[in-house]
Amino acid sequence: MRIEDAQEMMRRVYIERDRARGLAGTLDRTAEEMEELRDALLGEQSLESVKEEVADVFAWLCSLANLMDIDIASAFFAKYSNSCSKCRKSPCECPE
Ligand SMILES: [Zn+2]
Repeated sequence: MRIEDAQEMMRRVYIERDRARGLAGTLDRTAEEMEELRDALLGEQSLESVKEEVADVFAWLCSLANLMDIDIASAFFAKYSNSCSKCRKSPCECPE
């Protein structure tokens, strides 16, 4: 599935709920999902649990972007177009 298709799917399924919740509430939920991903990784939960949390983070990022009418694929590829967004090399040669 392409990024834009995933984002559009999330719009179809959740846009009304996202609008009702608003930007601040959706941002909070997105941050909560990042925490859950962190807990899953640090708590050494199963790979399945980590996969679910990765999916949740992306889903909430889609909701956030949908509320702001940001096309994730366009924004992503504008910044990361086959090279590092900072050093412009591929693979990245930035110091850690
Ligand atoms: Zn770099």
